Amino acid sequence: MTTEVVSACIRDIQKHRFQDGSGTQTVVHLKGCPMYCTWCPNPELRNPGVRLVWDPVRARHFEDGRIYSVQEVLELCLGNPDSSEKIAKGVMLTGGEAMMQHSFVYELLSRLKERGMHTAVETTGYVIESQFTKLLPLIDHLIFYVKHYERETHRKITGVYNDLIIENLRNALSSPSEVEVRLTLIPGLNDRPEDVEGFSSLFQHIGVKQAQLPPFITQAAPSGRHNAPDNASPLSEVELTAYQDAFQSHHLDCS
Ligand code: SF4
Repeated sequence: MTTEVVSACIRDIQKHRFQDGSGTQTVVHLKGCPMYCTWCPNPELRNPGVRLVWDPVRARHFEDGRIYSVQEVLELCLGNPDSSEKIAKGVMLTGGEAMMQHSFVYELLSRLKERGMHTAVETTGYVIESQFTKLLPLIDHLIFYVKHYERETHRKITGVYNDLIIENLRNALSSPSEVEVRLTLIPGLNDRPEDVEGFSSLFQHIGVKQAQLPPFITQAAPSGRHNAPDNASPLSEVELTAYQDAFQSHHLDCS
């Protein structure tokens, strides 16, 4: 296959400047997600194809997603060398679950690495093990979102068991990729004191020494649907510090 024929459905492609002014990072938002999180702020993203979606704010339908070839995305990521645009240095693939469109991701990451680009991927970890293992060597920075430590609860709140996720995280941690574990604390779903112990125990077991606690995003999807727990709101700074301290007491470095 060539970069012309391998394609994927993408929601959006954005450019960000690195804070040190050294260049730009292209963020590619791929469609498709195999999970069914009860709080999902973007349920439209789950479908890996182009879909017509109703936007209640603008009172009209819009096409969610567009098919791109690897070559098209590659050119967007590399930028125009003759332009005054800062040098393209990196690419971040995110979703949904970016690795769901794994053939495209493999081709794109391979071409980017050939050109010396820095590659980052955000993942839920719910990816067929052989596909995950094949992509890992092409990823410099892997951002791995963990949702729950207990398998039955994981299935209840995301629709899938966490065995595959834990196995993929374990493999990632023993790979040369830089792995950043992120744990979003969702009020009422995984933020009880005993959850701190549960996560800490899982992390110790598989060798995670550091985790980020990103804020819980509560914005509604364009469809207006939103299934977050009742009264869910982002943690205050005081609450976040308390969680960080609790994790620290279990020897997990958190920020
Ligand atoms: S992993 Fe993300 S995109 Fe997928 S269902 Fe969960 S919240 Fe939604």
